[in-house]
Amino acid sequence: MKVTVVCEYNESMESEIVKRAYPEGMGACIASIFEGQAEVELLRSDEQGVPGLTDEILESTDVMVWWGHMFHAAVPDALVEKIAYRVQRGMGIIFLHSAHESRPFKRLLGTTCTLSWRECGERERLWCVDPTHPIVQGVETIDIPHEEMYGEPFDIPTPDELVYIGWFEGGEVFRGGCVFHRGRGKIFYFNPGHETYPTYKLKDVRKLLRQACDYIAPKTEVWEHFHCRHRDTFSVPREKS
Ligand code: ZN
Repeated sequence: MKVTVVCEYNESMESEIVKRAYPEGMGACIASIFEGQAEVELLRSDEQGVPGLTDEILESTDVMVWWGHMFHAAVPDALVEKIAYRVQRGMGIIFLHSAHESRPFKRLLGTTCTLSWRECGERERLWCVDPTHPIVQGVETIDIPHEEMYGEPFDIPTPDELVYIGWFEGGEVFRGGCVFHRGRGKIFYFNPGHETYPTYKLKDVRKLLRQACDYIAPKTEVWEHFHCRHRDTFSVPREKS
């Protein structure tokens, strides 16, 4: 399996508080979650978009992981369309935290994806909604000591699978773990991960994200031209080894 992590680098990553949470860099911390599970490639997004994300990398990626905040608008239309098309052909994609505002997420979901928020380091507790779901095994509740509050209403389509609801000590609740199906691909959205809190170092969060990665990874080879009815020969999807 190949996992490609796209993590934004902006000036807040240079601040003391973020460096304290992630001395190695938040992107490196996120990438380390999947080491041993997959071949992992870490790409930086910035005001130039995602310069390192070539067609070759996109086509060879089984699961993409996306964290962004300030530079969503820098991701060009052509790349947004390529990512959406790749998901429709089977690539899994995990959108983390403020990636709810990213262009690929909004393109794939088709809604504004807006939410309410408050940034004061509240405690969050994630409650699993479906104890039979593969993503929640061994991590049915997760306590996060400090997080940015994300609250309802969250303008998303009704999730195909609602996995977690987050509760915040200020009283709000949020659909913080959701799976969507698009074509042959699966999308997982997970709300925790504001850059000033070391959430991606928590053991349970890492376990949950590895299980999410396994769950949304494509299980068969993708038909490159499954939409084309007039090809002379069709390749038949095969079980992945
Ligand atoms: Zn945030």
